[in-house]
Amino acid sequence: MSAVETIHVDGVWRGASSGAQREVLDPADATVLTVVAEGGAEDTDAAVAAARRAFDAGPWPRTPVAERADLLRRVAGLLQRDREAIALTESRDTGKTLEEGRIDVDDVTNAFRYFADLVVNEAGGRVVDAGSPDVHSVVVYEPVGVCALITPWNYPLLQASWKIAPALAAGNTFVIKPSEITPLSTVHLLRLLVEAGLPAGVANLVTGAGDPVGARLADHPDVDLVSFTGGLASGTKVMAAAAPSVKKVALELGGKNPNVVFADACATPEGFDTAVDQALNAAFIHSGQVCSAGSRLIVEESVRERFVAELARRAERITLGRGTESGVECGPLVSAQQLAKTAAYVESALAEGALLRCGGARPEPSEANPERPASGYFYLPTVLDGCHREMRVVREETFGPILTVETFRTEDEAVALANDTEYGLAGAVWSADTARARRVAGRLRHGTVWINDYHPYLPQAEWGGFGKSGVGRELGPSGLAEYREAKHVYENLRPRPVRWFAG
Ligand code: NAD
Repeated sequence: MSAVETIHVDGVWRGASSGAQREVLDPADATVLTVVAEGGAEDTDAAVAAARRAFDAGPWPRTPVAERADLLRRVAGLLQRDREAIALTESRDTGKTLEEGRIDVDDVTNAFRYFADLVVNEAGGRVVDAGSPDVHSVVVYEPVGVCALITPWNYPLLQASWKIAPALAAGNTFVIKPSEITPLSTVHLLRLLVEAGLPAGVANLVTGAGDPVGARLADHPDVDLVSFTGGLASGTKVMAAAAPSVKKVALELGGKNPNVVFADACATPEGFDTAVDQALNAAFIHSGQVCSAGSRLIVEESVRERFVAELARRAERITLGRGTESGVECGPLVSAQQLAKTAAYVESALAEGALLRCGGARPEPSEANPERPASGYFYLPTVLDGCHREMRVVREETFGPILTVETFRTEDEAVALANDTEYGLAGAVWSADTARARRVAGRLRHGTVWINDYHPYLPQAEWGGFGKSGVGRELGPSGLAEYREAKHVYENLRPRPVRWFAG
């Protein structure tokens, strides 16, 4: 496979049928990392046709569940074998640190194992009591068909795996389209699926742009389901494109996630240190390019000044640099576009009256931080104090290293602020009062709520959002259910006439 043969259709690696190519850039210095095939509508149609044939006539949907689970476990083993290589690829492609890349590989290994176990446990269907000894009634679960899987650039391997593992476990075939900005780890994952023994045509990959490749997948009449992770604007287009053919649609979209800190969480030095430390982590890991980033700090008025001063002091000390270098804590933003977007949000916030506590610029090498690079798509971790709901930076997902600070005086006010978003992906509450923490968690309208923590997730627990954060869930039993159709088989063991009609 040469560098540009990144399209995989019916078991064959090849370039784009048009011959078009795209450069993949290193976000740490904007140099060209490699070149990939730039697929188009023709490549997409060929991939869908291969997936359709493999679903309608191929062995995979009819392969016993235990064998499908074995394949998933082999993929998990291969991911661990290639752990360092994949982590390096992910770090170079996205800019995240090597250690984050390793964590991603371990997480997706667990996801493949989880879905292997789950599908075996849930095989065999569910017998339903029809209320008569003459009826045998059972609900069985079948694959949906051809799945279109469209993924973003921030967690390319992870998002691909959260879709591929349950799709394959359920017996589907698929075409995946990774982000055109970060396609490399998905290419590696497809190679592992082939190596693990997946039949030709089951797993197809088209590298290329959202339009035409993603758009074609979303409206293709031979696609049965589209599972999309990405931004709100593209997600609504996907939903609209999928509507005429009534595809099943799963959307994992953005978030504007509140991190609510009560003063009692900061009453002890340890409590204060933990809450500040985790607020930093919530907002700035992967330079804030995380759908569940805790980008809105909602802190009790009485501790605001102490909390924000310490947060800004520590944010200024975050070591930026190339993700593959040791000692680096934060990599660059993924693209020039993301950098410009971040700068524009900070500018608009300042114009609307926010107070800059730290950051607010691209880094310059300084005496205190000589290692900070000035090239690449770097932006300093930024804390904006004195923010309020009317500001764009508070309402919209910035997807950059920007933390806004709002304050509250009462529990009701904290809840109202935390729920005051069109999104509803994730949020956290920090309190030493367990009853209060649980009460507030119960009132938050978000798909994941952390109490005295931020960011952990489990493959066994559903992930997804309320409101405009999406439709459906990934991971957990619901993450498998997305890829299955339920079929009720009602068997009459003693058929007789019903005599509804007299004649
Ligand atoms: P994006 O919407 O720009 O792109 C996502 C994918 O959709 C890419 O592969 C892109 O090529 C494709 N695409 C673009 N236009 C399309 C169209 N018209 N039809 C079909 N496909 C199209 O998003 P992004 O900038 O790559 O990713 C960042 C976004 O992803 C953020 O909003 C983030 O919150 C979200 N995200 C959500 C989750 C979650 O679990 N909810 C996880 C990661 C990222």
